[in-house]
Amino acid sequence: MSTKCDFRVTLLGTGAPTPLPDRFGPSTLIEAGDQKLLIDAGRGATIRLYQLGVPIGRIDALLLTHYHSDHTAGIPDVWLTGWLQSDFAGRKEPFHVIGPIGAKILMSHLERAYALDIKIRIEDEKLPREGIAVQVEEFDHDGTIYEREGLKVIAFEVDHGVAIKPAYGYRIEYGGHAVVISGDTRCNENVAKYGAGSDLLIHEVAIVRPELESEPFIQRIMAHHTTAREAGSIFARTKPKLAAFTHLVFLASEHVPPASVDDLIAATRETYAGPLEIGEDLMSFEIGESVRVVRPIV
Ligand SMILES: [Zn+2]
Ligand SMILES: [Zn+2]
Repeated sequence: MSTKCDFRVTLLGTGAPTPLPDRFGPSTLIEAGDQKLLIDAGRGATIRLYQLGVPIGRIDALLLTHYHSDHTAGIPDVWLTGWLQSDFAGRKEPFHVIGPIGAKILMSHLERAYALDIKIRIEDEKLPREGIAVQVEEFDHDGTIYEREGLKVIAFEVDHGVAIKPAYGYRIEYGGHAVVISGDTRCNENVAKYGAGSDLLIHEVAIVRPELESEPFIQRIMAHHTTAREAGSIFARTKPKLAAFTHLVFLASEHVPPASVDDLIAATRETYAGPLEIGEDLMSFEIGESVRVVRPIV
């Protein structure tokens, strides 16, 4: 048996809407065998792919969790830049997008918005028309939404708040292993259900210092997310080989600074004692008999 790992997950962006230089918008790369899937395309996803040496045109499908702009702002860049016929791009096949209801309207409007660029590049640079075509699939309930060459992705509904629908998480299965990504959600039973038996459970999280907890604007945001204690309780129940945080929402105000990563770990430890990683941009996880963490080289 080869020792080379062929199931790898890389956090391209671990941030949220705040335009932090060290935490780009939410985006996660899944590499399984020869396939490459992107889950969400937040701000800077193309830059992170470039840093990894993954041609932007090599993405087999973009899977969307929901339609908050922090998860979609990078789509035009992945789609259009990935079409350039350079070694870092090179897509000649249609751009494949899979998402809950809303993906079709989003992509059709992007096609309209960038119609002139597309027309110009076809005429001027002779870029292949098929490479900028968009193929969209939508779904509206839990179930398998991608299955190819042993790689299977199951979507499951999560709860990101009453007004923020649809919102989904994903369970990715390959080679007898499973990785689960919560998507943006309040503490939700479906994450525990689909997270059962996973090798790696990647959860979103939000944290704020106690001084700000009673502020209405903070409560509004926290009501859309999972606290560290709650995420810890999900980890404790599902017992993944490794639990990791992404989509780190560190709330603050003009006078109260954000909580620290140590605060986040301490709060999680109130409910969970198992293996835990605080995600960073370009952190990779190699999924095999165990889950190996590969830290970004700085
Ligand atoms: Zn988000
Ligand atoms: Zn969101």
